[in-house]
Amino acid sequence: RGMGTCCVSGCGDINMDEENKKFTLAGKEFHEGDYISIDGSTGNIYDGIIETADAQIAGEFGRIMAWADEFRKLKVRTNADTPADAKKARELGAEGIGLCRTEHMFFEEDRIAAFREMICSDTVEEREAALEKILPYQQGDFEALYEALEGCPVTIRFLDPPLHEFVPTEEADIEKLAKAQGKSVEEIKAIIASLHEFNPMMGHRGLRLAVTYPEIAKMQTKAVIRAAINVQKAHPEWTVAPEIMIPLACDTKELKYVKDIVVATADAEIAAAGVEMKYEVGTMIEIPRAALTAADIAKEAEFFCFGTNDLTQMTYGFSRDDAGKFLNAYYDKKIFESDPFARLDTTGVGQLMEMAVKNGKATRPSLHCGICGEHGGDPTSVEFCHKIGLDYVSCSPFRVPIARLAAAQAAIAEMND
Ligand code: PEP
Ligand code: MG
Repeated sequence: RGMGTCCVSGCGDINMDEENKKFTLAGKEFHEGDYISIDGSTGNIYDGIIETADAQIAGEFGRIMAWADEFRKLKVRTNADTPADAKKARELGAEGIGLCRTEHMFFEEDRIAAFREMICSDTVEEREAALEKILPYQQGDFEALYEALEGCPVTIRFLDPPLHEFVPTEEADIEKLAKAQGKSVEEIKAIIASLHEFNPMMGHRGLRLAVTYPEIAKMQTKAVIRAAINVQKAHPEWTVAPEIMIPLACDTKELKYVKDIVVATADAEIAAAGVEMKYEVGTMIEIPRAALTAADIAKEAEFFCFGTNDLTQMTYGFSRDDAGKFLNAYYDKKIFESDPFARLDTTGVGQLMEMAVKNGKATRPSLHCGICGEHGGDPTSVEFCHKIGLDYVSCSPFRVPIARLAAAQAAIAEMND
């Protein structure tokens, strides 16, 4: 859904012959390489290529969306990491970026080598040298995002996944890295092995990476601020005010440690450029402890964004990557009505959110709050976000229209209460 790619699943009428790479449907045999067209909304499958057109907000649809915008109180942002996604989302009515996952920018061919060098470095100097190679790329990515958003808010989330996700697995890549680092293949393999974690989603990720390697946060801050300064200079009519988001905080001191690095780096960049620029540093609320201690966390965070994918995972104790394997039994046995990773659990996870908003705003009345987990594009979850007074929901580009509509419906329902 996030990629705007449709899917028909569970089509029992298809007779699949995987071994011979063919299937039969409605009396016709289809072979590998034949074209079919699918409609993800109706579940229909058509023979051949049907001409398609990109979704557009126009005509009657456009009229309804304009009505929705008159009523809704929630802003609707998008989760986007590329200018193309951001542009699509803007066409669909997004009012900003609520989540830019920067790790996707590290995986690209021209940067992954430098990032691997940083992981395998022995000293701070070596790490900084490797990160220096990535800085111009990151800065370029952020400039393109700021350009695409034309002065609308952009929240950039700092590196989140565990480092082992970046290391090479192919022998040839390991050899290449060993050569670049002046190390033996065995040494590189030992470093890779040392990064293994039994439970990586609860491991060395999120702001824990910045606690151990502050150089990463420094590099990302430089890239964000330099990009913002350049785009602001090019477009004085816009207000480019970076929102830097630190993921996975669970403690206010931990957040302060990373925030101090970000602020020192950002202030130095702004002073060196001789410009004035406002920026904010906020955090994601993704760990129950962060929600429980929101009053304290808000002393450091200038905004909260609920990462309800992780918050659901950690509140239920269900792995977000594996729960699908057993949740069907919960639906069959009427224990759960829906997937808590798709529709927000307003009773448990929602209670943590409501409490965090209330306590956070008590500490810092200017605190703005949003959501950027998958739930940000789910209508019933959007309704709940309206009720607890969030400022915005952020969802993948193609879910922006439904979020706008759901936000309006929530506001109208409240008027009628
Ligand atoms: C989340 O946890 O809800 C979130 C948006 O972050 P990610 O999915 O990247 O962990
Ligand atoms: Mg998360």
